[in-house]
Amino acid sequence: MTWRRPLSSIEALAALVERGESPVSFAQLVSRFGDVVQLFDENGWLKRGPKAQFVRCRLCNEGHDAELSFDGETGHGYYWCVVSGGRATADEAELEMRVVALECVLPALRDALAPIKFSLREEIPGVLWLLGESTRCGLAWTAMLARAAHNDNLALILERLPRVSAGPGLVLTSTPTPPMLDSGPFRLRPIATIMDLDVDGILHVNESAIKAGLGIARDRRRGRGRPADFETEALAVIAAASVEELNCDDAGLLDLVRSRLPGLETKSHGVIAETLKKRIIEAANERCLRVGSQR
Ligand SMILES: [Zn+2]
Repeated sequence: MTWRRPLSSIEALAALVERGESPVSFAQLVSRFGDVVQLFDENGWLKRGPKAQFVRCRLCNEGHDAELSFDGETGHGYYWCVVSGGRATADEAELEMRVVALECVLPALRDALAPIKFSLREEIPGVLWLLGESTRCGLAWTAMLARAAHNDNLALILERLPRVSAGPGLVLTSTPTPPMLDSGPFRLRPIATIMDLDVDGILHVNESAIKAGLGIARDRRRGRGRPADFETEALAVIAAASVEELNCDDAGLLDLVRSRLPGLETKSHGVIAETLKKRIIEAANERCLRVGSQR
């Protein structure tokens, strides 16, 4: 048997999400993840699966899956046959199957990223979800969840991301060792590096990990909290704003930037509003040129 290090609570949650819809016995979950399984149950993150048909035999050294039979005559209930002979009775924890309740886990991940807008949306069935647009860390960014982010799924995810958002985004993934994906404005990061689960079952976000993931680095020489890239910030504001919101004077643009990026310094608001103005003028010119060439 290979030794596996104990997982942290958030790593256990990620592993549960990564399993997807495949049922597992409550006993197996406890043996792998420990007491945190109780917390998952209380949070409604686990739901009952179909009745167990196989059980992990705990009587042989190597361990193997054994088919369950039902003994209705003696009232002993479910049992399996042990290789060395005889029967072993299955207890309740071995019979109770659980499946991750993604319909409850996803809203919890979303809530941890608040303030957040837009509804949850499944982008690729069972693989990629839009959690919403978060303004955590003073920047509007798209938050997504991806599971099983490897092989064919990775190609699918890469193809879908630009259609979900043009602005910066973080793809939180349950895949423990995901490929280092930096696709355009998107970064793929394991959930366990972005969030934490406390003993009360509450999810917390690690803001500096989000900032690092989004590329908002702190530069000491230039002053505390200055974003490394105002361009990214300006593009994010444009992506999140409606045409009506952008169609305003300089003071209006500054107000818009202030309301979208409340965590930044006044000076930064000014610089981003300037960048925003330039980009809007450029976009307007481009549109004129395109219209002109069609004639
Ligand atoms: Zn056995």
